[in-house]
Amino acid sequence: MADKPGILCDLCRSPAVFLDRASKAHLCRDHLMEHVEKETLGDIQRIPDLPKTIGIAFSGGKDSTALLKVFSRIKEDIPCRFIALTIDEGIEGYRQETILAAEETCKNLGVEHHIIRFSDLFGSSLDQLVKGSGRNACTICGILRRRALEILAREQGIRVIATGHNLDDHAQTALMNAISGDVKKVFAGYGPSAWYARRIKPFARISEREVTLYAMLSGLFRDLPECPYALSSLRGEVRTLLSRYEREHPGAMRNAATCEEEIRKKLGETFERAPYQACTSCGWPGSGDVCQVCTVLKGV
Ligand SMILES: [Zn+2]
Ligand SMILES: [Zn+2]
Repeated sequence: MADKPGILCDLCRSPAVFLDRASKAHLCRDHLMEHVEKETLGDIQRIPDLPKTIGIAFSGGKDSTALLKVFSRIKEDIPCRFIALTIDEGIEGYRQETILAAEETCKNLGVEHHIIRFSDLFGSSLDQLVKGSGRNACTICGILRRRALEILAREQGIRVIATGHNLDDHAQTALMNAISGDVKKVFAGYGPSAWYARRIKPFARISEREVTLYAMLSGLFRDLPECPYALSSLRGEVRTLLSRYEREHPGAMRNAATCEEEIRKKLGETFERAPYQACTSCGWPGSGDVCQVCTVLKGV
């Protein structure tokens, strides 16, 4: 990913594999990997009240695979053990292969692994729920995946879940939230909620380029199929746009992500959230009589 061959690491003069466009720093393989691990460790050490065990939301894709690998490398320095949690949404031509890759990675890294399936939990796969309905697969998947992950975490006694969201994901979300014009979205999932397991995002300051390269350099990167629904999503459009913008204006993604984080920090305490109420159908919390999960499932 360095722009030209023959360029050397700023720290050790070995061949560089990475150029940080914003700081103009070149790093070799070892220093790039060390940088990702140090940043992640620092982030985890700053998180207060970590329990004895945390769950890692592990899709088998490159981000969560890299996260699992980093955790395996820094495990002596973190105050908790970790297990991998995988959701099988039931997406033909995509999920079977990524589940197999996920199982193999956990075996290789010696990490305890648990899988839960939409079809077992909700009686239908994502494909069945979406087929011919004209409904947005990513919206439905997001709603059901959140519930599935929470159920799986509870089964394992997990109350803190680490996700592989990187800096690019945060910048994309910030822009999507701005485009939606719905200020509630800026605070969604960040409020104090005793019901849901707390989420932590140890890659929040690490770019997708760094995470991808880390996964490749670790020998864990595989050319797995992309989710067939991802390309049609607004996120896909925003991702393309922001990547182009970042190349021309290095640091733009970091600025977008930091800006939203600052808004959350400054207004998070005072932002008035709609109170949770128990769903009349399943008893889980929602913002109306019937929760989003039950609404999605009724629409079949
Ligand atoms: Zn170096
Ligand atoms: Zn419900």
